[in-house]
Amino acid sequence: MLDCAIIGGGPAGLTAGLYATRGGLKNVTMFELGMPGGQITQSSEIENYPGFFEHDKSGMDFMNTWQEQCFHFGLKHEMKKVENVVKNGEHFTITLEGGDTVEAMTVIVCTGSTPKRANFNGEAEFFGKGVSTCATCDGFFYKDKPVTVLGGGDTALEEAYYLSNICSDVYVVHRRDEFRAAPPTLDRVQRKENIHLVTDSVIEEAYGGMMGLDGVKVKNTKTGEVTDMANTGLFVFVGHDVNNGVLKDENGEFICDVNDWGQVIVDLSMKTNVEGLFAAGDMRIQAPKQVVSAAGDGATAALQVISYIQEQA
Ligand code: FAD
Ligand code: NAP
Repeated sequence: MLDCAIIGGGPAGLTAGLYATRGGLKNVTMFELGMPGGQITQSSEIENYPGFFEHDKSGMDFMNTWQEQCFHFGLKHEMKKVENVVKNGEHFTITLEGGDTVEAMTVIVCTGSTPKRANFNGEAEFFGKGVSTCATCDGFFYKDKPVTVLGGGDTALEEAYYLSNICSDVYVVHRRDEFRAAPPTLDRVQRKENIHLVTDSVIEEAYGGMMGLDGVKVKNTKTGEVTDMANTGLFVFVGHDVNNGVLKDENGEFICDVNDWGQVIVDLSMKTNVEGLFAAGDMRIQAPKQVVSAAGDGATAALQVISYIQEQA
C-alpha cells in the first residue's frame, strides 16, 4: 500500500513528490506516462519562474533538476500510464496500462490539460518557436510588436486583452463573424484601440525558418483574400482538453466533482470532494496555467496528504 500515489510528473506532480518525501512519507510513487517534466519541456525558454533567469536554458533543461531533487529525497517513479483511479472503502485502487493495479492511501492527480490545436499548416512546426498557447508565458517576447490571436471564445478574447497591454497591436482572427465569448468580454475588447477583430478568417499558414516563426497568412473565407501578417507572434486559443480521464470509473462517470469544462473542483487545499483525493496544477478549476502555480498546488496537496495520513494513524 502506497502512502501516496502521484499521477502525472509535470511541475505539480514533481513538487508534490518533493514535499511528500521530504515531509517524511516513505512510500510515494509518481506515475508518469513519459519522461517527467510536463508541458514546459516543450518550451524553448522560460522567463517567468522566479529565481531562474538563464536565457540559454530550455524548458527541458529547467525541469531536469526537478526530478533529480525528488529522486534524491526518495520519490519513486514508474513510467506508466494510469488508466483510472477508484476509491475502494478507505483507500484507492489505481489501474495501470496493461491492467496491473496498485493500492494507495491517498492520491494526488496532476495530469494537466492539453491546449487544442487548430491544425493549420506550420502550427506543429513552429509550436513553441513563435506559435504559443500561453499569453502569460510568451506575451512579453512581443513587447511593442504586433501579434495575432486565433479563436473567438472567452479565452481568446481575454488573452487578446492581456496581450493588448504589452504588444503594439493584436489581431484576433476568428472563423465566424459572431463570437462565442461573453458579451461584456467582447464589448471590452471592441473598445480597446489596439485590438483588431479579423472575422470570417482562418490561418492559412504559419511560416518561418530555423530561427522560428516569421509570420502568418490569414485567409478571409468569404472573399478568398489572403493577408500576409509578417513579423507577428501567433497565439492559438481554440479550447483545452483537461486530462481528466483517470478520474472516470468503468461506467465513464467522474469519481469526484468536476465543472462543466471538466476541470476538477478543489478547495484552497487542493482537496476534492472525495476524502484522500487531491488534484493539483493545470487540471484544477481556475488554474493560472503556470509552472509556478502548478508547483505551488503540488506543495499544498502534498502537505495536506501528510496531515491526512497523520489524522488516519
Ligand atoms: P503538465 O505539465 O501538463 O504535466 C502533466 C503530466 O501528466 C504530463 O507529463 C503528462 O505526461 C502526465 N500524464 C497525463 N496523463 C497521464 C496518465 N494518464 N498517466 C500518467 N501520466 C499522465 N508556464 C510558465 O509558467 N512559464 C512559461 O514560460 C511557460 N511556457 C510554456 C510553453 C509551452 C510551449 C507550453 C506547452 C506551456 C508553457 N507553460 C509555461 C505552462 C506550463 O508548462 C504549465 O502550466 C505547467 O506545466 C502545468 O503543470 P502540471 O504539472 O499541472 O501539468
Ligand atoms: P471555446 O469556448 O471552446 O472557444 C474556442 C474558440 O476557438 C471558438 O471561438 C471556436 O470557434 C474557435 N475554434 C475552435 N477550433 C478552431 C479551429 N480549428 N480553428 C479556428 N478556430 C477554432 O474555448 P475557450 O475560449 O478556451 O473556453 C472554454 C470554456 O471556458 C468556455 O465555456 C468558456 O466560456 C470558459 N471560459 C470562461 C472564462 C470566464 O468566464 N472568464 C474564461 C475563459 C474560458 P467557433 O466559435 O466558431 O466554434
